[in-house]
Amino acid sequence: MMRPGWRLRWSGGMLAMVLAVVLAAPLGATPPLPTIDYVAERAAIGRYQDADQRLQDIGWRLAQGNAGFCPRAIPAIGLQLQDMASYGAPEIARSAIGLKRDFAVQTAARGSPAALSGVFTRNREIVALERFDPNQWPAEPGRMNWHRLVWAHDHIDAMLTEHGGIAVGFADGAVARVIPVEVCATRFELMGDGGKAVADGQRVVIGIDFPAFAYPEEDVFAAVVAHELAHNVLEHDAWLDRNGRRRRHVRLTEREADRLMPWLLANAGYDPAAAATFMTRWGSRHDAGILMIRSHDGWDERAEFIAAELPLIAQAMAREGRADWTAHFRREIDPARGLGKTGRE
Ligand SMILES: [Zn+2]
Repeated sequence: MMRPGWRLRWSGGMLAMVLAVVLAAPLGATPPLPTIDYVAERAAIGRYQDADQRLQDIGWRLAQGNAGFCPRAIPAIGLQLQDMASYGAPEIARSAIGLKRDFAVQTAARGSPAALSGVFTRNREIVALERFDPNQWPAEPGRMNWHRLVWAHDHIDAMLTEHGGIAVGFADGAVARVIPVEVCATRFELMGDGGKAVADGQRVVIGIDFPAFAYPEEDVFAAVVAHELAHNVLEHDAWLDRNGRRRRHVRLTEREADRLMPWLLANAGYDPAAAATFMTRWGSRHDAGILMIRSHDGWDERAEFIAAELPLIAQAMAREGRADWTAHFRREIDPARGLGKTGRE
């Protein structure tokens, strides 16, 4: 829920995985060969992928449902890849999930063109993204190298923008051509350790230990993702860069992100009231934590601010069939402030 001043540059996740095996061999003259429990490794990767799937499903629904209102929308197919080079022990991960190469399907977001095509099954090996085989891109030395994965997703985005689609080739020789739809320009990434949820303007990154992953209701978990997406679509990071990250500024941007949550949920077909449910549940259990810091309002106040949006959203939905937050959402900050050309401070 925080937006710390630092920016995330690393995202590959996977920190917690497979490292125990690598570290198991003791220093000494004849270290015993480590025994690798591939079943356990595969299960650990599977749990990570399950969590990622949940995040991508929700992120996709929010990003697509609000595409008409976001400051920047891009064509997307909802496909997320994995690269063995991003694991702590690529050779173990490769064996555990049965890959010959490095690139494979990680997730196809529910309802996305990739998912609707039916061919992007988890761990299916990929050998071509249009004309390039990402397996042949050099992996920088060292473990947990996530650069190729970023390149691959950038490349997919570029193909979709320039060519209106992309042909994806699989290791078994099959090729699928996928046509994109418009979504808000934000990537959703699961971090392999930590319990934070943050937004940096381009991405929403959620740690696998974030408590809301335990919530069974999809719309309540979606509220968390909506809060972070709100920071990006309201361009808070750039605003705070321009105007300073004073406590008052942070509080106002947090309040906006809270209040926009139910609007984003409504456009995605979720129950907008789930935003208030989330805040109440979160706040009553974690009130000794980040919500007590003074850059945020108290959780009960935050829940009230959220609840106050619900009648406005209901009216907009009844009137227009959508919750147009570009027209009906009251800003707490002046979004143009600090741009220079407005003449304002
Ligand atoms: Zn926030």
